[in-house]
Amino acid sequence: MTECIFCKMAAGEIAPDKVYEDEELLAFRDINPQAPVHILVIPRRHIETVNELTESDAALGGRLLMAAKRIAADEGIDESGYRVVFNCNAGAGQSVFHLHLHLLGGRTLGWPPG
Ligand code: 5GP
Ligand code: ZN
Repeated sequence: MTECIFCKMAAGEIAPDKVYEDEELLAFRDINPQAPVHILVIPRRHIETVNELTESDAALGGRLLMAAKRIAADEGIDESGYRVVFNCNAGAGQSVFHLHLHLLGGRTLGWPPG
């Protein structure tokens, strides 16, 4: 999976603007932010989409969400409000096929999303 840009970040070959990392996860600021706070949380392991998650990934999914919660607090958007999004496949706007959680906040977010 050497052509995957997020794998390259996980391997340290590309240095994103990191806000958090541990053995399993990496979080960094989106290069094209759609809100004042727009952070991506990814597993280091290459998983293409939510569709490829298995039951054995349940804890990993939980850790992605818990990391997003902590980062939202660190960024000071936990009280004002934020959104957590996984785009799955092209019809939902997925453009990078390495699983990632979008954490968006810092402005009023409209609903429904486009
Ligand atoms: P998707 O559209 O797949 O749900 O989200 C992919 C996100 O990755 C987009 O918001 C896009 O701006 C972001 N992105 C793509 N390439 C890079 C990059 O090289 N660095 C960073 N920090 N974000 C990227
Ligand atoms: Zn990857």
